[in-house]
Amino acid sequence: MLRIEEEKGPQKNFYTQKVLPQKVVIPLSQHTGSLPKLLVKVKDKVKLGEILAEPSSFISSAIHASVSGEVKDIRIYNHPVLKKAKVVIISAEKNSSERFEPPYIRGEEQVKNMESSELISLIRNSGVVGLGGAGFPTYVKLSPSKKVDTLIVNGCECEPYLTCDYRLMIEHTESILKGIEVIAKILQVNKVYIAIEDNKLEAVKRFNSKLHTKKYALPSAEVVVLKSFYPQGAEKQLIYRLTRRKVPSGGLPFDVGCVVQNVGTCFSVYEAVYFNKPLIERIVTFAGSALEEPKNLLIRIGTVLEELVEREILKFKKEPEKVIFGGPMMGIALDSLDYPIIKTTSGVLFLTGEDLDLREESNCIKCGRCVDICPMNLLPLEFVRLVKKGLWSELKEFYISDCIECGSCAFVCPAKIPLVNYIKAGKEKLKSLNKT
Ligand code: SF4
Ligand code: SF4
Repeated sequence: MLRIEEEKGPQKNFYTQKVLPQKVVIPLSQHTGSLPKLLVKVKDKVKLGEILAEPSSFISSAIHASVSGEVKDIRIYNHPVLKKAKVVIISAEKNSSERFEPPYIRGEEQVKNMESSELISLIRNSGVVGLGGAGFPTYVKLSPSKKVDTLIVNGCECEPYLTCDYRLMIEHTESILKGIEVIAKILQVNKVYIAIEDNKLEAVKRFNSKLHTKKYALPSAEVVVLKSFYPQGAEKQLIYRLTRRKVPSGGLPFDVGCVVQNVGTCFSVYEAVYFNKPLIERIVTFAGSALEEPKNLLIRIGTVLEELVEREILKFKKEPEKVIFGGPMMGIALDSLDYPIIKTTSGVLFLTGEDLDLREESNCIKCGRCVDICPMNLLPLEFVRLVKKGLWSELKEFYISDCIECGSCAFVCPAKIPLVNYIKAGKEKLKSLNKT
């Protein structure tokens, strides 16, 4: 795994800043699972936090308006992560300086006395999904089919450059702990680990000092400081490191009695339960050497990148040579800035030659570095060989489905082979062959 001594992202002079967009483009499916049922039509007036679409099945999620305004269009929109996505476009009311006013405020005692089913329903209605990656609906993760005894709170930043979780842990330690309390109560776990990397010691200090007060109803809660390796935040690695339990190939954390929740998700659970606040905004890291000032911003879901540049909320000191939606390892290169932030967007990188290795791809020299670094003990160079030869069925024998697409193999490859592109192509082909 890759050791990260120092983050390149905004860590020292970071701050969060609220941005109110003039227009939002809100995809209906920002989560793993089925498309929610649309509840609005063009020309409808909507209020901030109003539901736009409700879950259509067990694995689905609600979507809410992130500004007050008028629905201008509902159409298919290309998105780097979601591909062809149905979106609701809302033009915000003029001079809107609105903040979310909680329709309801619950006190700690009230929350403590609530049934798990009521808490789950609030989380479901608020459209909370896993903010650390795939956007799995949180209420589904809180209704496991197997007994769970351990909750792991993931405070390990998912990729280099990204510091949004670190910022959140420092600014909202107490709220995150209240969210963790809710989750621990629902799952009835007897152990809680809060995992934080050793380059985020300020967050470690804050969690430890809050836990020291013993005011939280948390069973055996412990802050665990982990070395800042990439991909430390990957679920299966985290579970193994903390509990020595191995999630089987194709299995889920439930299978070994664990649930993993990202710190951002715990914060959103807190807001949903204490304030009925839907997931309408999140902290996003904007970094890379093209930016005059890398920063973390509190961004409304659906805000289009272009607006942030046009309004000079993001200013360039150099023209970016590459813009990446996500982190440097798993992110997707953009062809324009006409794309909206979604619930799972942790960061956007504006990179120049200083950040990039612009060498061309060459032949594999069989150095084995990709094998040594793979956190899933796979043979990435074999995937490339098999995809190039079209030997699709053999990909399964090499456990291609276990690849978490972390990008570590491509990062260390001296031949600059885009291994993850080959792996993704192999997985897509297998999926289409399985359908036929
Ligand atoms: S094969 Fe997959 S899991 Fe292994 S290093 Fe490459 S991208 Fe990561
Ligand atoms: S790291 Fe690159 S060059 Fe080395 S074995 Fe893997 S694919 Fe080949």
